[in-house]
This record gives sequence, C-alpha cells and structure tokens, in this order.
Amino acid sequence: GCPGRPLELKGNIRVLCRLRPGTPSSLVSLEPGPGGTVTTCYRGHQRRFRLDWVFPPHASQEEVFRELESAVLSCLGGYSVCIFTYGQTGTGKTYSMEGPPEDPGIAPRALQSLFREMGTGGQHHVTLSMVEIYNEAVRDLLAPGPPQRLAVRQGPAGEGGIQVAGLTHWDVPNLESLHQMLNLGRSNRATAATAMNQHSSRSHALVTLTLRTASPSSGPGTAGTLHLVDLAGSERAWKAGAAGTSHEDRDGAQRLREARTINRSLLALGGVMAALRARRPHVPFRDSQLTRLLQPALGPGATAVLLLQVSTRPEDLGETVCSLKFAERVG
Ligand code: ADP
Ligand code: MG
Repeated sequence: GCPGRPLELKGNIRVLCRLRPGTPSSLVSLEPGPGGTVTTCYRGHQRRFRLDWVFPPHASQEEVFRELESAVLSCLGGYSVCIFTYGQTGTGKTYSMEGPPEDPGIAPRALQSLFREMGTGGQHHVTLSMVEIYNEAVRDLLAPGPPQRLAVRQGPAGEGGIQVAGLTHWDVPNLESLHQMLNLGRSNRATAATAMNQHSSRSHALVTLTLRTASPSSGPGTAGTLHLVDLAGSERAWKAGAAGTSHEDRDGAQRLREARTINRSLLALGGVMAALRARRPHVPFRDSQLTRLLQPALGPGATAVLLLQVSTRPEDLGETVCSLKFAERVG
C-alpha cells in the first residue's frame, strides 16, 4: 500500500489508473500511488502521463475500493457520484467494477458500504435502476418481459432533468434484495451476450442508486445518487472491425458500426468531462445517449471518478497510449 491521505474526491473529476496483471513489459513503467505516473515507450517515443492515482498490477480489489469509498459515501449527504471503468476490452473493467464472487469489485463493495453506513434506522429510501446502452439504444435491464428500447427525453423545464420513458425504478429494502436485482440485471445483459457475440464489451452498463433521506418534518429530503458505469471497450474502430471472425461482410459492417458509436459516445464523455473540468459554460451533454443520461449526475458539485484500465502487453501498447491520452484530456 501507499502511505498518505486518501484522495479528496468531492465535487471533482479524478482519474485513477489500474494496470492489468500480466507479463511485465519494459515498454510500460509506473510510479504507483497518489499523483503517480505511467510511462510508455511507443514506436521509440517516450511519454509520461500523470494521474491522480496509479494502482500497480498487483493491487487488490480492496485497495482500489479504499480510494473510492469516501466518494461513494458522499452520496448519503445528497451528492451525485459517478464511477466509470474505461479501457480496451480485456483490461479488467468488469473485473474492477463487478469482480468475481470470491473477490468482489467496486459495485458490491460500494453497496455494502452504503448499507452499512445507513444502518437499520430506515431514514433512507433507496431505489435502483439498471440500463444498457448498445448502439445508442437504451434498454432497461430490470424491466419484466422482453427488452424494450426506451426513449430519452428532456424533462420538464426548470427541473433540468432527463427522463427515460418507461424506465423502471425499484425499491430496495435491504442489501440482499439489492444483490438479487443486480444479478437479474446482469443476467439480462448476459442473455444478449450469447445471442450477439461479445455484446457486453460493446455496450455501456449503468447501475443507478438513488438515496433519499426520508425526513418526516421536511418532506422528501435531498437525494444523493450513485452511478456505476461499466463502459464499452474503448478500442479503436479499425481494430474492432479487423477482429471480426466472421467472413460475412454484414457482420464486419455491424462491428464497424458498433465501434463507431462506441467511439462517438466515449468521445462525448471525454468532451463533457473536459468541459466540466475547465468550467466551460457549454457542456456538450447532447452528443450521445450516455452523456444525456448522465447529465443530471454530472452537474456542478458532482463527483466523477474515471478508473482507467490499461494493459502492459506490447501488442496493446497503442491502445494503452490512447487510453492514457483520454485520461490526460479529462483529468
Ligand atoms: P473488460 O471488462 O475490460 O473487457 P474483464 O474484466 O472481463 O475485462 O477482464 C478480462 C480478464 O482478465 C478476465 O478473465 C478477468 O478475470 C481478468 N482480470 C482482469 N483484471 C484482473 C485483476 N486485477 N486480477 C485478476 N484477473 C483480472
Ligand atoms: Mg467487460
């Protein structure tokens, strides 16, 4: 572990980087810890990237969560918190966010920590929704019946919100029911995965928890929100297209289309984060469904944490540099 204070995460954008375990490579070196760096040597050109925190390949799930816990718990105080996992497919986004049952990742740890903190007093009312964005189509992962494409609309004037027509919000009485719902959402995502090869790496998955303080004297209290977002693979279009195993052109074209919509939405996310970071008056939320959906969550006072997942394999170096450049732009 690294000595020092945990990161101050409130009301800001922070970029953390986690290296996937694997064969160490002389082409990617790091200084771990707060203000750590990752140095790449790509095509004979050396570049050094500074991040808010760098986790070495052997970092445990617990170490990663430790840096996120205070941000997660701030949503009990009415704050909005978004945690993203970003990176090339295979670098450990889902591992970090979900983790295997025997070594849980950010989502299960965050929920457990929140419920522990809330205790059994029943002052909080918790609701959950879960969606997937695939090729700019938004799908409810918790709705009963066959999957439906949902329309995303601007909410009533003044509220400044976004409405997803027909999206289901579920009451969460306790941690156990929360885990059941998350498993249901995950299996609904997995159903699509078998029908459509590797679908999950080409879609964004968003888990949203809303926590309202039920205060009998003052009516509905402030609502804090926690968004946990497992982003689609960030690999560039040409690679995703070339990686298609089928000889049918239709498949290749489909893959290319997927890769292009993913690139566009990740670019939009980068644009939104960069604009927020620089406090620019115009924030381009409308450029993608992902950023439209997250608009209420990424406003002033919100906390966004991007957990960048990178590979150290020589053959992935180009993608690793691209991911680090993305982090440089938003961080
Ligand atoms: P992604 O979601 O980015 O496509 P995954 O999370 O599916 O990547 O990870 C790819 C593989 O690498 C999985 O088998 C996963 O279990 C493994 N993996 C990723 N990160 C780690 C880690 N930190 N420790 C152990 N295994 C990992
Ligand atoms: Mg994944």
